[in-house]
Amino acid sequence: MRDLNTPCYICEEELLENNLKVLDYVQQKSGAKIILALKGFAMWSTFELVAKYLKGCTASGLYEAKLAREEFCTYNENAEVHTYSPAYKDEDIEEIAKISDHIVFNSPNQLQKYIWKVKEINPNIHISLRVNPEVSSSPVDIYNPCGLYSRLGTTLENFDEKVLESIDGLNFHALCEQNVDALEEVLSVFEDKFAKYFVNLKYINFGGGHHITKKGYNIEKLIWIIKEFRIKYNIDIYLEPGEAVGWETGYLKSTVLDVFQNGMNIAILDTSAEAHMPDTLAMPYRAEVRNAGIANEKKYTYRLGGNTCLAGDIMGDYSFDAPLHVDDTIIFEDQIHYTFVKNTTFNGVKLPSLVIKRKNGVFELIKEFGYEDYKNRLS
Ligand SMILES: *Cc1c(COP(=O)(O)O)cnc(C)c1O
Repeated sequence: MRDLNTPCYICEEELLENNLKVLDYVQQKSGAKIILALKGFAMWSTFELVAKYLKGCTASGLYEAKLAREEFCTYNENAEVHTYSPAYKDEDIEEIAKISDHIVFNSPNQLQKYIWKVKEINPNIHISLRVNPEVSSSPVDIYNPCGLYSRLGTTLENFDEKVLESIDGLNFHALCEQNVDALEEVLSVFEDKFAKYFVNLKYINFGGGHHITKKGYNIEKLIWIIKEFRIKYNIDIYLEPGEAVGWETGYLKSTVLDVFQNGMNIAILDTSAEAHMPDTLAMPYRAEVRNAGIANEKKYTYRLGGNTCLAGDIMGDYSFDAPLHVDDTIIFEDQIHYTFVKNTTFNGVKLPSLVIKRKNGVFELIKEFGYEDYKNRLS
């Protein structure tokens, strides 16, 4: 552990497998298929493990679909690649059709534009339309796919019954970090609006945002709801969580570079909220720091900040039992989902390394980044 250079994201294999087992329990008991949303967690060096439990991946476009095909399907030959984009481009559609088992269109326009091409290239592909049930209790607007003027999914008003000749299923995605009650609310509106179209469909995809692996999630109720739905409509169900797969499976380890005072204690770290923990500023939320409390809860309070020139590159105010010193380690908990899939080289700061803590306790450095990663994105 002492040998690992910081900053680094450390994914704990055992914790990841615990989540996968919970998700698999839901699959076994409910009969639903669960696929990984790569958008939230794409540490592909863990996919040998993930593919033992989950039935495939959902991709947001060509590159994620390629990653799923190359790094997930090699470990599970029955794994499915589902691809959904708000809009496809001519230059990508052929390759997407070739490597996807399901393609999900966002609007009847897009479906009509590409369906013949897609079917010609891949006659076995499943075709879906993403609908927008226009109901959601998502906690924040930037993560609410069903808010006012949403571009994500087809509303009932924009639904074109002609698409029913071509589709095998419907998708919706309306949740964000939510419990099963929120799903229940969305489902009841979704059924009211769209159940009349289920007759010839093979499946419904309930999207992501199900916080299944969080303590307190009502797993038995989820299982019950899925089973009821499957039986009522004689239809298959998919769930496609991202966050629930990577939830609490590891941390971001950083080092204190400097400590001083400017009206309060300040510590500068070798990581960055802006570049390495982007959701802490975008959502925003406060990341937990190991062995620390909120400001003034413990004896020594510090404002923790990142090593970029952005004034707002601040993780927050945290208190500790002892004063912080240069070279101390600071650990941000739960930094595996929506972190390295989104991070940047803003300010030319080094990207955190990717590390896996194996089940036998050994820390394995999977990937280290350097100057070339910064330079290669520019020219
Ligand atoms: C983001 C997204 C997911 C995954 O959401 P989580 O909150 O990470 O579970 C699934 N499906 C779609 C369409 C998405 O946009």
